[in-house]
Amino acid sequence: MNQIQKLPSLDDLPAEFRGSRLLPGTEAYGKSRAIFNMRWHDALPSMILRPDDEDDLVCIMKYVSAKAIPVAIRSGAHGVDGSAMPDGQAVIDLSGFRAISVDVEKKIIRCGAGILLGDMDKASSEHGLVVPAGTVSSTGIAGLTLGGGVGYNMRRFGATVDSLLSCKVVTTDGRRLTASNTANADLFWALRGGGGNFAIVTEFTFQAHRVGPMVGAGVVLFHMDDAKDVLTKLAVHMKTAPRPLQVIAALVPTPPMPGIPPEFYGVYMMSLVCVYTGDLALLDATIGELTALGTPAAVAVGPAPWVAVNSMLDAAAPYGRRVHTRGGYLSALSSTAIEAAIASARRAPAPKSPGPSTVQNIWFMGGAISEDFAEDSAAFSREGAEVFWEGVSQWDDDEEGPRFIDWADSAADALSAEMRANGYVNLTTDRGPEWLRGLYGSPEKFQRLIDAKTKWDPQNLLRFNKNIKPASV
Ligand SMILES: Cc1cc2nc3c(=O)[nH]c(=O)nc-3n(C[C@H](O)[C@H](O)[C@H](O)COP(=O)(O)OP(=O)(O)OC[C@H]3O[C@@H](n4cnc5c(N)ncnc54)[C@H](O)[C@@H]3O)c2cc1C
Repeated sequence: MNQIQKLPSLDDLPAEFRGSRLLPGTEAYGKSRAIFNMRWHDALPSMILRPDDEDDLVCIMKYVSAKAIPVAIRSGAHGVDGSAMPDGQAVIDLSGFRAISVDVEKKIIRCGAGILLGDMDKASSEHGLVVPAGTVSSTGIAGLTLGGGVGYNMRRFGATVDSLLSCKVVTTDGRRLTASNTANADLFWALRGGGGNFAIVTEFTFQAHRVGPMVGAGVVLFHMDDAKDVLTKLAVHMKTAPRPLQVIAALVPTPPMPGIPPEFYGVYMMSLVCVYTGDLALLDATIGELTALGTPAAVAVGPAPWVAVNSMLDAAAPYGRRVHTRGGYLSALSSTAIEAAIASARRAPAPKSPGPSTVQNIWFMGGAISEDFAEDSAAFSREGAEVFWEGVSQWDDDEEGPRFIDWADSAADALSAEMRANGYVNLTTDRGPEWLRGLYGSPEKFQRLIDAKTKWDPQNLLRFNKNIKPASV
């Protein structure tokens, strides 16, 4: 976890604050404290503040800024580091900021900071619209967007930040602003990938795109012995595959899924998780090109509503377990990388409990995310990445931790020679300042982030994150 430093009490918050102050030991505190990754379950914030509205948030920020009290921010509670709930610190919980609106004509969607991906998909999909975002419906739109945002639509429409039009923010000294390409553009640039370092975003405005509501999706399953050959061919295939096709090659114990024979459940195999948002008349032919890459053990792909498709991985990500995540960009899916990933899958620790335990996901970039947006258009970096890899381990008992953490770390280490310095900040547990410096690509981009941090958060009040320090600290 980040800096542990006991705080002065926040009991003397101004009387204008109308929201809730949640203290340890209460039910409401426990509910807010319960985040996705409970690996640091001993960490207990000194107080959780739930503002009722922006006025409350302004009040808090004026107060903490005057007293130089750092604050952590909780929105969707899916941060991979658990940084929303640092021990002994003050937390601002924005999960109550639940307003959402859809302007169907202009295809514009506005989401409060507490909106989860499933909420957004539900509201937009009713109108045949989608904002490109992530793949698990309980993830928060806030932390995901501030990091960049990748998912099934990134090859077609780009990262989430590429469809972000503006943000309403409360600054660290308690001012209300809009950040966009035309207002406070330096802040807007930094917010699009720089994480929760610069200001507190209360509302995101997105440009949505026409998708579905029916799309094609499912899984093509291969035996591990075929994984090398199929992945080698898939890497070539995806270079020219249509943009509406996204494939995640997952090396994982096969989860129970409709259409997959039960004899494969729990067996370590390679699932090609496929989503095709193009013309459904072309679905069979598009998936046929994937099944032709080898001899599938099972194929379960068909039309389904977007909302169901974009939550099909939810079962693989149950709430409240201990989680360790590593990830990074690869310039190419080389044979060395493929062999390393397969070797890591073969040495994955056996779980004590039946839930999801270890997975390596290989996601294909290319298309819009790689080609349509300049590297310097936002803080989010994408340059040179053909695929990205993530290794995730999940467990329940603390004593199981070292085995599962070691596995994800060693799987990442086995790929380190292939991994690029630039990457996606939300893809991995914090690796420290040197790693962070490389993550945004060029030194000029990182300097731009330091400049934005120095201007917008000179006291580093927002430090419970992958922290970019202001020049003054
Ligand atoms: C199961 C799972 C699946 C995932 N799948 C994807 C995926 O498909 N695609 C993808 O791109 N990412 C994915 N992620 C990563 C996810 O985008 C990040 O973990 C993200 O930070 C989650 O945001 P949150 O609001 O839910 O989290 P929180 O824990 O609430 O926030 C994380 C951090 O973001 C900052 N923050 C949050 N809200 C604000 C705000 N309003 N203003 C300023 N700063 C703020 C804070 O620093 C906070 O510590 C996944 C994560 C998990 C756990």
